[in-house]
Amino acid sequence: MASVGIVGAGLAGLAAGITLQEQGHQATIFEQSCHVGGRVASKEVDGHIVDEGFQIYIDGYPKGLELLDLEALQLRSFAPGAIIHKDDSAQTVGDPLRQLSTLPQTITSNIGTIGDKLKLLRLRYKLSRIDVESIWKQPDSPASDFLFSLGFSERFIENFWRPLFSGITLDPSLSGSANTLQFVFKMLSSSNAVVPANGMREVPAQLAERFEGELKLETPITGVTSNSVKTTTEPHNFDAVIVATAQDSAQKLCNLSPAQSSGWKSCTSIWFAADSAPTNDTYIHLGVETNVNNFAVMSNVSSHYAPDGKATMVATANGTEVTEEQLRADLATWFENQVDEWRTLEVQHIAKAQPQIQPGSNRQLAKKTSNGVILAGDYLADSSINGALESGIAAAALVN
Ligand SMILES: Cc1cc2nc3c(=O)[nH]c(=O)nc-3n(C[C@H](O)[C@H](O)[C@H](O)COP(=O)(O)OP(=O)(O)OC[C@H]3O[C@@H](n4cnc5c(N)ncnc54)[C@H](O)[C@@H]3O)c2cc1C
Repeated sequence: MASVGIVGAGLAGLAAGITLQEQGHQATIFEQSCHVGGRVASKEVDGHIVDEGFQIYIDGYPKGLELLDLEALQLRSFAPGAIIHKDDSAQTVGDPLRQLSTLPQTITSNIGTIGDKLKLLRLRYKLSRIDVESIWKQPDSPASDFLFSLGFSERFIENFWRPLFSGITLDPSLSGSANTLQFVFKMLSSSNAVVPANGMREVPAQLAERFEGELKLETPITGVTSNSVKTTTEPHNFDAVIVATAQDSAQKLCNLSPAQSSGWKSCTSIWFAADSAPTNDTYIHLGVETNVNNFAVMSNVSSHYAPDGKATMVATANGTEVTEEQLRADLATWFENQVDEWRTLEVQHIAKAQPQIQPGSNRQLAKKTSNGVILAGDYLADSSINGALESGIAAAALVN
């Protein structure tokens, strides 16, 4: 049995802790903030649940199936598909294979040609026949090159792929990995986009509950070696150390060269409260050529997001420059003057939301530095809840 110190109680750190526990090791997690979950967090504002940005869980995430009790999370689903807002029109693009009633609107929507829709079905079919591991092993390229190589029209890429991909991976340029796009599309078309009934915080909270080792919150680590972590007051010795922080923090703690970092993708989310929702649907709404990239009525998806008789909405834009006035003006073209009645619960400018991962980057999942410290985090896998969990599991496997 080894004793292991883990820096960071984000999803990667928690996944590492649980995996080590299952292998019979003794893990201690040190977290600088007052809560577990890192970038996956929620709070209550005037009785409304406000997540850290707009985040969704996908109930087919392979590593979530290994580590989480999905039933206990009381998952609530978004409708499969999306409502696409362009200029003054709103068009529903459903997933007719799962919700037959959306077939007519999906076929007649003018977001792309019939050929585009058939290509979408062909890609969906191809991805249904390969496993996730095989997706990551494919040669990679920028997502936009991949989509053009499949013959999608520019109109369909602009009206569908760009808002969809940028909503989930915060990459409006479509310059990120085509393999990530395929992973996300496979997940979305074979399983459900969901949130836990009581907010995204329930995902890390459940992992923390499963973890039986010591969890020290509000304990920042100031330095590490392969067998010790240093708090502001004292060093703690272990047989192995895992640094499960974001890349920039890991580089500082381990004195690594910052050249390995390729930066962050950012976003702005605004949470609104209202006496009534502007729509009854549970779709994710996507904006084309607007500041608002995506919008959802969270209280339609889970009533727990709002107090009785109220509604909770979230609108998200890429980048941190966009203002509340700009987002409200865009939403007014979708929902007219109802928007004037909405009260702002919180404006979130999230500069460090997801790490930039270049297409073709070596997907290491976890690795040891030259000094023997084990590194974990979404930046070593893919920037998603699944990627962070997978990285934590892989880091645990590097403990001898
Ligand atoms: C706005 C937003 C939207 C997203 N949307 C989605 C989505 O829809 N679906 C999806 O799957 N993923 C989404 N993601 C990505 C997902 O949340 C992350 O990939 C994942 O949470 C990263 O987990 P992690 O453990 O690697 O890192 P983190 O969550 O960053 O955890 C690192 C932890 O280390 C702690 N730490 C850092 N330094 C120290 C130190 N010196 N001492 C002690 N502790 C330290 C931090 O406080 C933090 O708790 C989104 C992320 C954001 C922010």
